[in-house]
This record gives sequence, structure tokens and C-alpha cells, in this order.
Amino acid sequence: MWRRIFSTSTSTSTSAPAAFTSKGKKWDALIIGGGHNGLTAAAYLARSGLSVAVLERRHLIGGAAVTEELVPGFKFSRCSYLQSLLRPSVIRELELGRHGLKLLKRNPSSFTPCLDGRYLLLGPDAELNHSEISKFSKQDAEAYPRYENQLQRFCSFMDYLLDSPTPEVSHKVLSFTDRMRDKLQKSIFWAHCFRRAIFLWQKDMVDFMDLLLSPASKVLNNWFETDVLKATLATDAVIGTMGTVHTPGSGYVLLHHVMGETDGDRGIWSYVEGGMGAVSSAISNAAREAGAHIVTNAEVAQLMINDDSGAVKGVVLADGTEVHSSVVLSNATPYRTFMELVPQSVLPEEFRCAISNLDYSSGTTKINIAVDRLPQFQCCNPSIQEAGPQHVGTIHIGSESMEEIDLSYRDALSGFPSQRPLIEMTIPSVLDKTISPPGKHVINLFVQYTPYRPSVGSWEDLAFRESFAQRCFSLIDEYAPGFSSSVIDYDMLTPVDLEREFGLTEVAQVPFQWVDPHLSSSQASQLWWREHISWCNGLGFTLLNAAC
Ligand SMILES: Cc1cc2nc3c(=O)[nH]c(=O)nc-3n(C[C@H](O)[C@H](O)[C@H](O)COP(=O)(O)OP(=O)(O)OC[C@H]3O[C@@H](n4cnc5c(N)ncnc54)[C@H](O)[C@@H]3O)c2cc1C
Repeated sequence: MWRRIFSTSTSTSTSAPAAFTSKGKKWDALIIGGGHNGLTAAAYLARSGLSVAVLERRHLIGGAAVTEELVPGFKFSRCSYLQSLLRPSVIRELELGRHGLKLLKRNPSSFTPCLDGRYLLLGPDAELNHSEISKFSKQDAEAYPRYENQLQRFCSFMDYLLDSPTPEVSHKVLSFTDRMRDKLQKSIFWAHCFRRAIFLWQKDMVDFMDLLLSPASKVLNNWFETDVLKATLATDAVIGTMGTVHTPGSGYVLLHHVMGETDGDRGIWSYVEGGMGAVSSAISNAAREAGAHIVTNAEVAQLMINDDSGAVKGVVLADGTEVHSSVVLSNATPYRTFMELVPQSVLPEEFRCAISNLDYSSGTTKINIAVDRLPQFQCCNPSIQEAGPQHVGTIHIGSESMEEIDLSYRDALSGFPSQRPLIEMTIPSVLDKTISPPGKHVINLFVQYTPYRPSVGSWEDLAFRESFAQRCFSLIDEYAPGFSSSVIDYDMLTPVDLEREFGLTEVAQVPFQWVDPHLSSSQASQLWWREHISWCNGLGFTLLNAAC
């Protein structure tokens, strides 16, 4: 079933544009978009004493971090569903715990069932990992802690980059003092990076560069021999991308997904009580407490630019209302911001070219399902109906080997939704009792690969959509017989829906532009960092305080 907006929200929001446009009112800063990053920016700016307004086009805040009750009694994290990448400093400084954020750690964190009756559980428990991997290979069981340690060292190296402001190229004419200050700040940044690189030692540094630039398949083949182990780890290298395990740079995506933490435990992803909307809700509470104003149903149609100076002077909403400020931050994608909201005449050609060549392709479909019972996996004891360790973490369906992942990707390259899609299934209601009626459950399927423009049908065609959803359910039936018959109702978001409903650009997740030869320019790499950081730390946005 293709559901549109008839949802209720767990996030609170205000909707009173009139209060924002009173005659002569000029805000210190405006933020286009109330995604969790826009809200974070609002909270920090308001805490520093500035008057701030957030303008969100949807009827609720949160962007892709939302909870919506589409089936009565079932609260879906419609897009994002797991938390770990929000920077600890943001959680601490904005006191998100006090504002309602409650993280539910998952142990074990992953379960990969096999059709031959075996399975692999992995998680934070080193002993469990050793005994589980030993079922397949003693050698891999010995190598696994060394692999994890190495990734942890690389993550520590990245921490500094994630928590520091990106070195920016200024487009303004600076005074001598400002130039010196700018050079000093950049020198401090690079000196820190250099010092950390020295601490990694030469072998680690070579391995680090290898991880950043290589295909994940090469990295994982160097470490391990067991197909199911490599495939389980490799899903982190392709998730959300239109890339395969053999794509150069996919090693970085793998690292990206272990860079986060939950309560100091590195690489651990958690559910959020109440769904991901609770993250946005906690941040918005912090922002409001600091004095920020948040408006929903307020779509920004264009930026207003001063003809003489080229500096921004505010925004025009879709209903024609003008809101004034000389500082505008955009939480919308760089493509949407610069190609749709900024008047094209004020942008340099080279910059417009870099933006128009950004590659947002992803091939992700999200299916949120209400079920009347837990799936019973054939490789466990299917007669036991209660939740077991297999239900707690991410359940990897259709990824028993890296070749299986690659085949699934190849279908999409030819324009077909994958015949045997790669599915990450999570059942947050096993740990979070607030999101489904007793005995019933919420299931998230993060599915790849679904081309944005299929060559064999259209996502606007209900029968085409339905057949793809049924294909996913049938694949799950192979591992957990009877799953299809447990489905009460579902909500399916293909790349086209994600763009239309959430304002993403052909599904903006981890864009692959940094391995794209078109985007080696410094502007493109800055954009990559902005997008990349927006995934991680709750601080990603594009600042428009002058017309570029
Ligand atoms: C299906 C899916 C699953 C994901 N799963 C995870 C996950 O499990 N864990 C994880 O860490 N990340 C996940 N992500 C990524 C994560 O959700 C995003 O990185 C994150 O939500 C980005 O937040 P943001 O605030 O930068 O942007 P967004 O969440 O995209 O918010 C941007 C906001 O701007 C608004 N907007 C756009 N244009 C305008 C306009 N003209 N006027 C006013 N408002 C406008 C939009 O409506 C939106 O609310 C997932 C993403 C998707 C799509």
C-alpha cells in the first residue's frame, strides 16, 4: 500500500507565520528546514543569544529523523531508524537526556541467518563474537578483535575532524588581521591532523589510506575468509549508497558506520525510545528553551539577495511572505539550496557546475511494517515465540556473501529493482515498548537496490510498488516462514517518495561524489564534508551570509 500523509506526529511544532513577519522584524539568523541538523544549529545559535527562526516546509519537524503513526497504535521511524552518529558533544551540550532523549542499546547488534541452517550473531560482547565466528572459521575468530581494534584507532583519528569546524575557503575580501587569524586557525587544524597521523604510525597510516580509497571487498578479503562474516560487515560499506562492495571508496563508508557510539561505546548503534522523532523532538526542546522559534508548514521558495552587495537579506516563503535576516542557514540539500532557492544569477558558473554534478543516487527504499507477531527464523528454534537475541539487532537478509550483495546491485545498474534485494531488518519494538500495541511489533526494512528511475516500470504505479514489496516479504519468508502473513499494514518509501515527501534530492544519504572524478575541486570537497558531517554530528548545514 502506498501511504501518503495522514499521519500524527510525536514531535511538537508551532505554526504561526504571522508572528515571524511582523513589520520591520529582522532575525539574527534564519534556518531553512527543521531537520535535526537545522534544529541543532538553531539551538546553538539561540544559546549564544541570537534571535533565530526555523522554517520547515512539512507539517512536522525532524526531516528524515521523524516518528509518524501511520497505522493506529504503530509508531514508525519513517526514514532513519538507528542512532549512533550524533556527536556526543551535541548530546551533552544540548542536554538532550534532560530534553527527553533515551537511547536503547542493542546487544547483540547483528544477526545474519543462513539458508543452510547456520547463523552469525555479532555485538559488543567479545566472547560471543569469538564463539559465533568460530562456528565458521577459527582463524577469522582470532582476526576479528584485531580488525575491530584497528577500526577503533582510525575512528579516534576521525573524531578530531568530525568535532572541528571544516576549514573553509573565504570568498570575502578579508582585512590583514582577519587573514592572519584565518591562517592561524587553519594551521592549528592541520597541525592537529598531522600530530594524529604521526601517532597512527606508518603501517596503520598505509592501512588507513587503503581503507579510505579501496573497495570494501578488498579490505575484508585481506582480513577474513568466511563469506557470511564478510557480507555482514560489508553491508555497512554499501548502505544508503548506489555502490557495491567492489566500488572504490566503499571502505570509507564502512568506517563511517563504525565511527559513532552510544554512551561511550564505540560503534554501537541504538534505538531511540519513541522512534527517531524523539531525537528531533529533544533537540527542538533545547532550541525552544534557548528562545528559538520553530515554524512548520513554512516552505521557503527563494532567498532574497541584495542587488548591490550580493549579500542575502532574507527569504520568501511559498505563500509570498517575506522573512528578513542577513544570515540564512540552509538545512536543505546543497542541490536544492543552490539550484532551487538561490537566484542563479548570483552564483559563479564554476560553483553551479560543481553543484549540478553532485551525485545523490542511492537506490534505497524504506518499508515500515506493522506486524501481529515476531518473525520466527528457521535457523533458530522457530517453536519459541518470544523475542530472542536474533530479534534485537540488525537482521541481515539476503546477504550471505559479498557476491550476493554485488548481484543485487547489478540488477539496479541495469534499471531493475533487485531480484533478491539486500534487506536490513530491525524490530525496535523488541526493546521499545512505546511504539506498538502489546504483542505486536514495528518492523523497519531498509532495502537496496531500487533505481530512482526504473527501466521496467514506475514507482507511481501501485501494482509495480506492490510487487516489489511482496518480493521483499517473500525473501524474508525464505528465512522466517510465515512472515508475509504477519503483516497488518505497511508504508513504503521509494527514492521518489523520499524526495517528494522529505525534500531529499534523489535520496540524499552518503553521496559518493568524493570518489567521482568530476568533484575533485576544493568546493566539491567542502560540499562533501558538509553532507558527510550532516550525517554525523548534528551540525551540518550550508551557511549563506553572503551570496557565495
Ligand atoms: C531511508 C533513510 C534511512 C536512514 N537511516 C539512518 C539511520 O538509521 N541512522 C542515521 O544516522 N542516519 C540515517 N539516515 C540519514 C539521516 O536520516 C540523515 O542524514 C539526516 O536525517 C539528515 O538530517 P538533516 O537535518 O541534515 O536533513 P533532513 O533530515 O533532510 O532535513 C531537512 C529538512 O529541510 C526541510 N526543507 C527542505 N527544503 C525546504 C524548503 N525549501 N523550505 C523549508 N524547509 C525545507 C525538509 O522538509 C526537512 O525537514 C537515513 C536516511 C534515509 C533517507
